[in-house]
Amino acid sequence: YHDIFEINQPLYIEIGMGKGDFIYQNALKHPENNYIGIEKFPSVLAAAINKINKNQSLPNLKLMHFDAIELENVFENGEIDHLFLNFSDPWPKKRHAKRRLTSSAFLDVYRRLLKKDGVIEFKTDNRGLFEYSLQSVTENNYHLDYVSLDLHNSPEANDNIMTEYERKFSVNGPIYKMIISDCKE
Ligand code: SAM
Repeated sequence: YHDIFEINQPLYIEIGMGKGDFIYQNALKHPENNYIGIEKFPSVLAAAINKINKNQSLPNLKLMHFDAIELENVFENGEIDHLFLNFSDPWPKKRHAKRRLTSSAFLDVYRRLLKKDGVIEFKTDNRGLFEYSLQSVTENNYHLDYVSLDLHNSPEANDNIMTEYERKFSVNGPIYKMIISDCKE
């Protein structure tokens, strides 16, 4: 990925960035990091591009079109510093559990792609998905660095950058958040 940015600096990625508000605001706030937003639906990606093009262009932000199942064909091991999962699709049916972006298979992939001190931040309004994810990350030997069952009423709310879904759905109930890291030696 190094070639696509002007400056080689820490790499932050978001899987399923939707219309891109969150990653754009992050890239604007932190020129000292590089950001890649990943989205599998072309129509959603197009909406993000349109939106971002109306704003100031940022040399530290790129958007990519692919499905997260392809992650290991795109990134090299140990290349990613920070991974965001925001309001990932819940896939509530048990037979679809493997598609959840916090399933064991995905957590294994993230472990390989993340740097030694890399972290994953996950936010959702979906309690079922959050409970599943807490269980999945602990079973897969990730360390829970931070957990909130009501992000918007916590001290961290001040620095929180909201996503489109977050703005829309936080009126209905709490936003859950966890920050996890791998227990690598
Ligand atoms: N993160 C945005 C937000 O919080 O506003 C969008 C949330 S939306 C519920 C989930 C997004 O993730 C959708 O745009 C969907 O197309 C995308 N997505 C879901 N599974 C994906 C996958 N396997 N790879 C890439 N994108 C994915």
